[in-house]
Amino acid sequence: MIFVIPAIQSSPREAVEDFKDRTVRKIGDLRCPDHHQSPRVRFLGATLRDVTVHMSGCCDKLIQLANRKIAGL
Ligand SMILES: [Zn+2]
Repeated sequence: MIFVIPAIQSSPREAVEDFKDRTVRKIGDLRCPDHHQSPRVRFLGATLRDVTVHMSGCCDKLIQLANRKIAGL
């Protein structure tokens, strides 16, 4: 499963690293309740306006959990 989240804000380039850090930290302790796997996350794009988060995991449930964590819900 792959889920793509566009980063909405536009900010200087340093903010991209900050965004990556925060995102990775948010899902760092997340495990799938069914398969006990952690999601994998990949970032594409050099600026916050361009960057997208590609998440992959064992199942849809994990992706949804990770997506919710990243969204801060
Ligand atoms: Zn799973």
